[in-house]
Amino acid sequence: MSRSAHPAGPRHADVLPEGHYSAPPADLNALDPKVWAQTVRRDEHGVLTVGGIDVKQLAEEFGTPAYFLDEDDFRARARAWRTAFGDDADVFYAGKAFLSRAVVRWLHEEGLNLDVCSGGELATALSAGMPAERIAFHGNNKSTGEIRRAVEAGVGRIVLDSFQEIVRVAHIAQELGRRQRVQIRITVGVEAHTHEFIATAHEDQKFGIPLAGGQAAEAVRRALQLDGLELIGIHSHIGSQIFDMSGFEVAAHRVVGLLREIRDEHGVELPEIDLGGGLGIAYTSDDDPREPHEIAKALTEIVTRECESARLRTPRISVEPGRAIVGPTAFTLYEVGTVKPLDGLRTYVSVDGGMSDNIRTALYDAEYSVSLVSRPSDAEPVLCRVVGKHCESGDIVVKDAFLPGDLAPGDLLAVPATGAYCRSMASNYNHVLRPPVVAVRDGEARVIVRRETEEDLLRLDVG
Ligand SMILES: *Cc1c(COP(=O)(O)O)cnc(C)c1O
Repeated sequence: MSRSAHPAGPRHADVLPEGHYSAPPADLNALDPKVWAQTVRRDEHGVLTVGGIDVKQLAEEFGTPAYFLDEDDFRARARAWRTAFGDDADVFYAGKAFLSRAVVRWLHEEGLNLDVCSGGELATALSAGMPAERIAFHGNNKSTGEIRRAVEAGVGRIVLDSFQEIVRVAHIAQELGRRQRVQIRITVGVEAHTHEFIATAHEDQKFGIPLAGGQAAEAVRRALQLDGLELIGIHSHIGSQIFDMSGFEVAAHRVVGLLREIRDEHGVELPEIDLGGGLGIAYTSDDDPREPHEIAKALTEIVTRECESARLRTPRISVEPGRAIVGPTAFTLYEVGTVKPLDGLRTYVSVDGGMSDNIRTALYDAEYSVSLVSRPSDAEPVLCRVVGKHCESGDIVVKDAFLPGDLAPGDLLAVPATGAYCRSMASNYNHVLRPPVVAVRDGEARVIVRRETEEDLLRLDVG
């Protein structure tokens, strides 16, 4: 990210405070297509529309805060990944980014597979008709109940994450008279985030079995001995919000190295490798994500080259994008409640949601952009911080953003690129009700996850 911190200096009212922001954009009404869903526009009155419906109408019908998801954009992105990888590879959408039954049906229709990592996600996938053989089951501590359900359902693969799990899945499969297809998740010693990757010591994490010290090779040895398991491949996931392919390059090199060791030791060439997800999206205009076809080309070339030099048949590749499919397709719509200018600092703009519907800013210091969307404005830009309604000073939605100086209670703000890891990480903190997800397409809006009600909250409270 190329955002420059403003040079530190005395805090006069005419000097901007420190923070991570670029200069104010030339036109605050402009919508950068990089960060907004494909069908988002401003209409002739300057009001933002998605799928042909304006946000004032959407706010009236569905309330705020709410997530609005551009269904055409979701399908287009899913299809772009599918097409880019073609028939020789598999695309698994990572359900944890955002999962609902409508999403499962869209994925099914667009020919994608699905990653789940809990019984709840598995139940959602199956209940919406995703064929079990197109589901991969992940997680570093799947319960025996979850494993049993996954094996019984006939999931296409379980990704094994520990030595205990190798035995657990094998036993359960055997008890059920099954042979479960599995991959082993390894840590290759690479962790990638945004533009950098670090190629040392990243075995120090809870996921996967380290390649270092021969642990991954030992896991393979054990898995190959167990009748309940059919070992089909090796899995590696190196991080998230990645823009740079070099981390994948190192990962592919090391995974293929393990495939070669396995061939040399056991005389088997495993047929699949999974390179995980983690491809970045644009949260602000400073981010430059790659297109699926570039990613597919790069990954395929890397794996092919590595396999040629190891004299291995090129395995079938799979990838697991979550954020890159759903992230850009939705925005969160909020209503402004209060506007509080702090002299020489910034203006605090409080909206009717916050860390309960978007924890990423508090959790990861994530950057977002935000626009006034219920009307155009040519007022001077003012440095703002968009905050929520929760009882935490860290309850920040957008840390630094320029908004028009005439912003007032009742205005609608939209934060783009909230399709991934926002509704799926939403909480009931302060007994706030989780917002709905509304899918919009061709002038029609339909709730796919309804707003929580106080009744929902009280139903769980049985004391
Ligand atoms: C989280 C995760 C993904 C998806 O990551 P994105 O950053 O959303 O693409 C894919 N695979 C695994 C194993 C994951 O844990």
